[in-house]
Amino acid sequence: MPRIAYVNGRYLPHREATVHIEDRGYQFADGVYEVCEVARGYIVDMRRHLDRLNRSLAELSIDWPVSRAALEIILREVVGRNGVKNGLVYFQVTRGVAGRDFVFPSNVKPSLVVTAKKVDPNFQAKRAETGIKVITVPENRWERVDIKSVGLLPNVLAKQKAKEAGCQEAWFVDAEGMVKEGGSSNAWIVTRDGVLVTRPAEHGILRGITRTTLLDVIGKLGLRFEERHFSVEEAKEAREAFVSSATTLAMPVVEIDGRTIANGQPGSVTLSLREAFFDVAEKSPA
Ligand code: PMP
Repeated sequence: MPRIAYVNGRYLPHREATVHIEDRGYQFADGVYEVCEVARGYIVDMRRHLDRLNRSLAELSIDWPVSRAALEIILREVVGRNGVKNGLVYFQVTRGVAGRDFVFPSNVKPSLVVTAKKVDPNFQAKRAETGIKVITVPENRWERVDIKSVGLLPNVLAKQKAKEAGCQEAWFVDAEGMVKEGGSSNAWIVTRDGVLVTRPAEHGILRGITRTTLLDVIGKLGLRFEERHFSVEEAKEAREAFVSSATTLAMPVVEIDGRTIANGQPGSVTLSLREAFFDVAEKSPA
């Protein structure tokens, strides 16, 4: 089955799916995106992802390229045409195509690209059995990382640095030594007293959809939870650490900057959140 992408009104084989050289996404990273997990034939938490897309677009004064109802149909169509039962659907909206000029062009139509990809469900499950390793890097991004912009160069560099260190994620750390979030995930710890901690999402981090749904899971399981800043030092001393994102769900972290967390095994709280996630998340048939 050839992979099919949606580009500005057309469903095309990947090789033929292209955007214009003067698309502002390409020239200025003037656009936003979302990634939803597809699991067992369902698009996970689609409503929340579309709500966040709406917010990102509004913050940048970019119009919806199609109606929300139409976008839902396109997402399902791309997932279906690619035969994705487990994997992800990626969608990106940019301000559109216009002669290169910094200021917003007038009368421009936003560009919409949607792709979907199969992912072996065992890949992440296997990873969760051993956990991942993270490094920490100084925060060097702009302040508006609450907008899910396609401008991800600091994240690219941080994650490349992690890879070169034999790790799978990099945590951005603020000037006070407090953990912000990962290059493509939110950061969490479980304290020695068994309290789940993650940084408030008012500003300075992306309000992860998986993070939001995990808060529902935590409520359902009756676990103790605090939304507050935590330092790299506190994380290294924690009972458990983990990251969350649509593609990894709750993924145990077993090492931070070469320091083993607890006994170096994935933590039981993290694994129970992972286990309960799909029951709590909203599932839209693809
Ligand atoms: N923070 C950043 C910087 C991210 O790129 C992501 C993944 N898109 C997340 C957090 C997690 O967000 P979500 O749970 O919505 O995937």
